[in-house]
Amino acid sequence: MSDHKWVYDFAEGSKDMRELLGGKGANVAEMTRVLGAEPKAPPSGAADRHPIVPAGFTITTEACVVYMRSGHEPEGLDDQVADAMRRLEKTAGKVFGDDEDPLLVSVRSGARESMPGMLDTILNVGLNDRAVEGLSRATDNERFAWDSYRRLVQMFGNVVHGVGGDRFEGAIARAKQDAGVKTDAELPVEVLQKLVEEFKGFYEFPQDPQEQLRQAIRAVFDSWTGERAVSYRRINRIPDDWGTAVNVQQMVFGNKGDTSATGVAFSRDEVTGAPEPSGDFLVNAQGEDVVSGVRTPRDISELAEVMPEGHKQLMEIMRTLEAEYKDMQDVEFTIEEGRLYMLQTRNAKRPAQAAVRFAVDAVEEGLLTREEALRTIDAYSLDALLHPTFDRSDGYQVLARGVAASPGAAVGAIVFNAGDAVMQGQAGKNVILVRPFTEADDVAGFHAAKGILTSEGGKASHAALVARGMGVPAVTGAAVAIDLDAGAMTIGGRVFKAGDEIAIDGSEGAVVEPGARLIEPEIDERFDTVLEWADELRRLGVRVNADTPHDAERARELGAEGIGLCRTEHMFMAEDRQPKMRAMIMADDREGRRAALRELLPLQQEDFVGLFEAMRGLPVTIRLLDPPLHEFLPNLPELRAHVERARIEQTDDLEELEKLLARVEEIHEGNPMLGTRGVRLGILYPEIYEMQVHAIMRAAKAVDEPPHPEIMIPLVAYEHELEIARELVVSVAGEHDMREGEDYTVGTMIELPRACFIANLIARHADFFSFGTNDLTQTAIGFSRDDVESKFIPTYIDDKIIDRSPFETIDAPGVGWLVRLAAWVGREADPGLKLGICGEHGGDPDSVAFFHRAGLDYVSCSPFRIPIARIAAAQAAIDDRIVGGALGWSAAPDGGT
Ligand code: PEP
Ligand code: MG
Repeated sequence: MSDHKWVYDFAEGSKDMRELLGGKGANVAEMTRVLGAEPKAPPSGAADRHPIVPAGFTITTEACVVYMRSGHEPEGLDDQVADAMRRLEKTAGKVFGDDEDPLLVSVRSGARESMPGMLDTILNVGLNDRAVEGLSRATDNERFAWDSYRRLVQMFGNVVHGVGGDRFEGAIARAKQDAGVKTDAELPVEVLQKLVEEFKGFYEFPQDPQEQLRQAIRAVFDSWTGERAVSYRRINRIPDDWGTAVNVQQMVFGNKGDTSATGVAFSRDEVTGAPEPSGDFLVNAQGEDVVSGVRTPRDISELAEVMPEGHKQLMEIMRTLEAEYKDMQDVEFTIEEGRLYMLQTRNAKRPAQAAVRFAVDAVEEGLLTREEALRTIDAYSLDALLHPTFDRSDGYQVLARGVAASPGAAVGAIVFNAGDAVMQGQAGKNVILVRPFTEADDVAGFHAAKGILTSEGGKASHAALVARGMGVPAVTGAAVAIDLDAGAMTIGGRVFKAGDEIAIDGSEGAVVEPGARLIEPEIDERFDTVLEWADELRRLGVRVNADTPHDAERARELGAEGIGLCRTEHMFMAEDRQPKMRAMIMADDREGRRAALRELLPLQQEDFVGLFEAMRGLPVTIRLLDPPLHEFLPNLPELRAHVERARIEQTDDLEELEKLLARVEEIHEGNPMLGTRGVRLGILYPEIYEMQVHAIMRAAKAVDEPPHPEIMIPLVAYEHELEIARELVVSVAGEHDMREGEDYTVGTMIELPRACFIANLIARHADFFSFGTNDLTQTAIGFSRDDVESKFIPTYIDDKIIDRSPFETIDAPGVGWLVRLAAWVGREADPGLKLGICGEHGGDPDSVAFFHRAGLDYVSCSPFRIPIARIAAAQAAIDDRIVGGALGWSAAPDGGT
């Protein structure tokens, strides 16, 4: 193991090594390659040459994984770090631990996927009581030296020794008050020196720079398993076993006075995607000041006035990086005494609207091909484009302005801390999390809240980054006064308490009077363009799960190519239908049932006419009745109590109630999900299915444009069940002169493991299969679809047994294996067999990619997920082409993902 390579110099890596070097390490290596490791002159051509990317090295994610598993650093790591430090000293021309002009380094985390603000970073490592004096002399800047030392002792205490950030910030706030200054940058040297002394009293600060480095690296490893990082990974579906890399980089200083600055910038507007760079910077500051949101930064456009040369060079570099990375970039930079340094670049996290705009613009600019552009869009984030906004003409009253940090509109009750947001959010309440600024520990609250409102911070603040990543609307830096102790927010003299309703408009950057009207999202032109490209590139069809003409219309507008699942039971739930349905169930014999069904027939026929008209000739898959009959009857314990009362009071309806109770008891089942439902109902009560088929056939004949009804039989386990049901359908359809295979088709849902195993036998009686992955997941894993997510799935995720609910993303190796098996053997029996999926997974991008690879013909999902499914299907097709050799339906399932 000892000759294993744990450490890579930036000059050795590339962007293709992100698994090993983490995103930050791979990107900084790539940037070193693109911008050159050697010194460069500034654009003015001045003689002052310097490398644009400060040198450094990366400790691999593998080292972190070994550390996580064994509890100690891997063998050989210390020596390799020492060697890398020696090389770094040579490049920098300074010595780590030197008392006169010390080399200082930053120690930063960097996982494979960026996790903004979630992992730890320590700056200025290498300073101590002696070196701070040397640094002060070498730079002739005593204030800078002490400010850097103050930051090190503070960050080290917070990150490595777990001292609460509020202790340090409290001391700084008191020092500012005593000194009569407003900002940290104004604190004089003597105060900084006192602060360092005070901070050192909080914990034992190691004076030995090598010890600092060792502890800092270990702290970054540890931050991977810290609570906030774990909770971020859950929300963002990042596996726990990736580990983080550690980047050690020569420090450059943005806090050397008024010719120094530090900032973050986006190559395009990070909220709208418009092709103007955006970002924030602070003069005389270090990076943490900008992202923490503690100081409100200045807009990047102002940098052109303050430091024109640095601004110009930064703009050019961002263009170069965009072209190189083929994606919008998010960079960190520092200007040290007029010299620009690039510290980091990564593909910019952005809200859906910016992602779509970038994709369209990048193709127009010739930067990307359509395929490349589509791949830059995070299909999961598109949900946000389908979120409501406020109608600005109607009751839209702005109470306070702030920064448009994350788009979308939200209304909810005010909560002042993340814990309350989680509690009330879980209880189904809409809440807005209101904080002066947010920190990593607030992340769980973001997920639970409908919106975020802060009084501090800009577009690059923690609150803004995290909210955008999650698609949660946010307004930061708003003109509101928040008093956490008093639990109150004041806006222009008006006081809002916890629980009061407030509204925010994250697209406009406004706090709004809660009466504003929410409007449904419209798909804008650019989104349409991207969707059109997706339609040209995808192989999978996209249908909708819809039971009403309204949903069907909406779905067509969103691009549905048919109905993949009409759950006919929903049609019987309406108030005017339920009594008729109940009468049918209560009937003593078949004749009684037929009489009740005759009343339902015209209503059902009307339903189908509505659907056929809405879909105008597109296929409509109608599933015959599926749920256990008790769902249409009163709840048994409630009914028992009711009957009990009626018996005592001897009410007039007692006899009727007794009869109802007897019937409910008769059809009661211990496990109705595995009981008399699906095709079993059709076999026991064929008259129900007969009525439904009559209604379908009559409706098909009643509409102008001939529809394509696909009659679907649910929960088939035995081929003979389908054979019987099919005969029934064909016989009833024959009464309407409707021809099998021409005027309609008959197929089945595949929802049970047995059906997957004998799919070749079932295929003999089916024109199509539609995978009901909700029930298939339930029956394959033995997880109750109604219970597990609120019972033990969270624990399973915490214990790393699974990383997502199998009801959200298909369990590819398990349930997915059954899907592939059924697709394979089904098509062996009938190569023309059409294959779809209509479980909830049909709108989940990762699952859509799986269904593409499994060779299915279409996915079907709820109306608002259709655009997401279209994009995800195109991305799957593009990935397929890039990776090559997809697992087609004819390939034998190999059990892998
Ligand atoms: C399924 O089981 O996946 C399905 C689509 O049917 P339902 O959710 O109605 O049981
Ligand atoms: Mg089902």
